[in-house]
Amino acid sequence: MALRDLVIVLGDQLDLEAAAFDGFDATLDAVWMAEVDEESTHVWSSKSRIVLFLSAMRHFRLALAAAGRPVHYRPLTAAQAPCGLADRLQADIAHLRPQRLVITAPGDWRVLRAIRQLARANRLVLDIRDDRHFFGSVRDFAEHARGRRTLRMEAFYRAQRQRHGVLMQANGPEGGRWNFDEHNREAFGPAGPGAVPSPPRFEPDAITREVMQLVTTRFAAHPGQLDAFAWPVTRAQALQAMQAFMQERLPLFGRYQDAIWPGQPWLYHAQLSAALNLKLLNPREVVAAAEQAYREGRAPLAGVEGFIRQVLGWREYVRGIYWTQMPGYLEHNALDAREDLPMWFWTGETDMACLREAIRQTLAIGYAHHIQRLMVTGLFALMLGVQPRQVHAWYLAVYVDAVEWVELPNVLGMSQFADGGLMGSKPYIATGRYIQRMSPHCQGCRYDPAQRSGDTACPFTTLYWDFLMRHAAWLGRHPRMAPQVRNLSRLADEQKQAVQMRAAAIRRGEVGGMPGTAPGPAAETGAKALQKESPVALRTTGLFGAGKAPEGAPGADRGGRASFTSWSAGRIKPHFSVI
Ligand code: FAD
Ligand code: SF4
Repeated sequence: MALRDLVIVLGDQLDLEAAAFDGFDATLDAVWMAEVDEESTHVWSSKSRIVLFLSAMRHFRLALAAAGRPVHYRPLTAAQAPCGLADRLQADIAHLRPQRLVITAPGDWRVLRAIRQLARANRLVLDIRDDRHFFGSVRDFAEHARGRRTLRMEAFYRAQRQRHGVLMQANGPEGGRWNFDEHNREAFGPAGPGAVPSPPRFEPDAITREVMQLVTTRFAAHPGQLDAFAWPVTRAQALQAMQAFMQERLPLFGRYQDAIWPGQPWLYHAQLSAALNLKLLNPREVVAAAEQAYREGRAPLAGVEGFIRQVLGWREYVRGIYWTQMPGYLEHNALDAREDLPMWFWTGETDMACLREAIRQTLAIGYAHHIQRLMVTGLFALMLGVQPRQVHAWYLAVYVDAVEWVELPNVLGMSQFADGGLMGSKPYIATGRYIQRMSPHCQGCRYDPAQRSGDTACPFTTLYWDFLMRHAAWLGRHPRMAPQVRNLSRLADEQKQAVQMRAAAIRRGEVGGMPGTAPGPAAETGAKALQKESPVALRTTGLFGAGKAPEGAPGADRGGRASFTSWSAGRIKPHFSVI
């Protein structure tokens, strides 16, 4: 019998309840899944990220079979020629001859475009269904954004709490406040975190081991290691990970959310982003479990609110930004950043203790917590002035939870301020003293966070002052940044010059690299991969319509449009052309 619907399931859509399965009839329809190189090579994906996706897909294939849904599954083999998703699907359309293609809305604009083009070329109906995984749809977000002067997560988050009845009481938010952040920013004392409950480890089974073998052979040159791979790859494992977090680590999650401690990558974090993004877990069940822990007195309100803010607020907010702003969002470079990412981002071979730990840990386990991503690696790249697309390609490559809809706004918007203030109100910049406050790293580092120039000056501190000088014209007009810019007047001209000279040496790679180490093949391949990603990705674009950049804003001198409008006038008109 002819095939009615071919239901396409992508590697991050591993949910038996997904909308693509509505009306699925095993006698008429079939599922299609494929492992393709392109998804591991369009950025130079780490081995752990590839293994997680492929292993979870192979396990999901078994879940589909157990649910009685026929699957056409195209595995990758060690010898197979490189292949893209569209080519592989095209070959199967010719062979299976379905009447329709059905898919849950993909998380990646590039993939959606490829599948749309393919359906059109084959004159096939393409039924794209809303992704019910999320609390709200992209349309809901666009509605929230329409006509606002500024988009801010806080307003969106409060609306989400009300709309979905999360942590609410009769007259408003639980506890009488929406935000308990001031309780959530503690560092550990000198004694450190003590005994933190370890998250469950899921030792690789035969399927995962087979995938590890494949990845070690086929993607041998890719960054990262697999020795410590223990991520959940099935829904049952993801649920177990979630329950362990709710019982053991949620109570102290909020309090130590921003703290960093060497050798302790997880601390009190949930370690659930990868399972959520693969759709092995549903955010509703995660949020409900956290709220229940609070209502049963097992976790404090401040921490639970802080956790729910991440999942119900930030996660849905960044998705809305991505889908209402793509494809132009990828091109933004509002600060006109032109540097290359230092090669040691691919190896961790730097003498800066905080960066060495964050990068080595990332390459070893595919994970770093939010503050490491934002205030260590991201902060350094921002203040150094690295091309945002290179920073994006690195983050998308190295983290196991990296999927473009969530990674890109976090990197380009929140961490690099490349969208000029659409995603967040101001650039996150800080001296090394911030890292000193949140971690003990500076004690064992050859640099001194209190010094801004000279041989022992902490590169973060140097680059902070250099950033203020480079961007003083527009930062001085920003209501929340102006006080920092005013501090520049405390510096004599010679002090400013000393900062600039030191910053130039950092940019030339004379500071920060590991003495006596050559970049090595991994770093060189990584650098080449980034060049491929951003040939000259320097378009400075505006998000809020026409208009020249304000005088002094990056891009203004080159006639570019800048977009520092989030604190000035201009109503947001979501592009909203995709779903
Ligand atoms: P926890 O700290 O325990 O937080 C709980 C959950 O909240 C997470 O599992 C995640 O689902 C959600 N969450 C928290 N913060 C965010 C956020 N800013 N945006 C979206 N969801 C959030 N998250 C990804 O899922 N994929 C990425 O590729 C990614 N890239 C990032 C890049 C940068 C530069 C930054 C600053 C953040 C990035 N994040 C990304 C957000 C956040 O850092 C991770 O979600 C978090 O570190 C994952 O670890 P966890 O599960 O232990 O999270
Ligand atoms: Fe990082 Fe600077 Fe502290 Fe060294 S001194 S650990 S480079 S913040």
